[in-house]
Amino acid sequence: MKIAIIGIGSVGSAVATAVQNTGLAHEIVLFDRDGIRARAAAEDLGHASAFSYDIKLTAVSNYRGIRGSDIVIIAAGANQKPGETRTDLLQKNAAVISDIVPKVMENVDAKKVKLIIVTNPLDVMVMLAQKLSKLPASRVIGTGTMLDSARFKIILARQLGISTRSITSYVLGEHGDSSVLNWSAVYVGGIALDDFCKQAKLSLPQTTRNTIEHRVRNAAYEIIRGRGATWDGIGGAVADLLHAIINDEKRILTTSIVDGIGKNAVAMSMPRVIGEKGVLMNLHTKLSANESALLRKSGKIIRKNYDAI
Ligand code: NAD
Repeated sequence: MKIAIIGIGSVGSAVATAVQNTGLAHEIVLFDRDGIRARAAAEDLGHASAFSYDIKLTAVSNYRGIRGSDIVIIAAGANQKPGETRTDLLQKNAAVISDIVPKVMENVDAKKVKLIIVTNPLDVMVMLAQKLSKLPASRVIGTGTMLDSARFKIILARQLGISTRSITSYVLGEHGDSSVLNWSAVYVGGIALDDFCKQAKLSLPQTTRNTIEHRVRNAAYEIIRGRGATWDGIGGAVADLLHAIINDEKRILTTSIVDGIGKNAVAMSMPRVIGEKGVLMNLHTKLSANESALLRKSGKIIRKNYDAI
């Protein structure tokens, strides 16, 4: 399994470390338009491999070096500065994706390659990458709200005093400010959240739910304020997605792919079954009327941003 990572900044480096630690790749190639940075990262990570898996890890100086890659992860582009939203990166990163995707496609096997998109604003970048690559939507996969869903689960688990592993909770829609916390489809040990709260004699009033929503949506802003950027969480998300793909796990993850046709096409996160061929099935969870309305609004925001490129 050969994996290429394009963009070796904070996120690309964390992704490379996480990919290396899965032990699933026999070869990882790193490309960045800043060749010195990519070479230094390859050197540093190469040293780490002495303590983990014996992987061929190299920096490549041009796109020919990614030939033979089964999966290409795109993590290049501007990141948010404190106070900036993901949408503020729209035009800058549309130019980055427009630069990268055609060069990637000239050097990979279009019949089997899968692209994983990490660059923000995530959903719009998925739409652009899918259009430029001409790959089936099922093989241009954005990490979407995987990280948001993880944040939701972790915060909820702490609130309920239950292991994260016993909670199913999804964030849907945009990986951004209009994301939708799908409270109607939260299950704790297979029990609907409200029933669980009754059995556990716990109260989860609207004010607490609002605070949880705020913390989930603002997690990235808080981390950026404290350490300049976010990288570890997304590294974990990409590694999890790779496990699901490479091991053909058919696991359900909230990922973003293009759905719909023409002017109605939009990429946003829904729970999707992931396996070796990419996205195998799109799923629809139980939604309240309010969640449905918010999800439609989120889709419209993404589409409007895409149309503004
Ligand atoms: P960074 O500035 O540390 O690194 C970006 C890297 O991209 C740099 O090394 C730069 O040289 C490279 N690059 C830029 N244009 C390029 C091009 N045309 N070709 C090749 N390389 C190019 O930024 P970062 O913190 O690593 O963030 C990268 C992206 O990941 C941002 O868009 C950020 O918003 C996004 N991100 C996404 C998530 C998510 O959940 N999807 C989480 C965190 C960050």
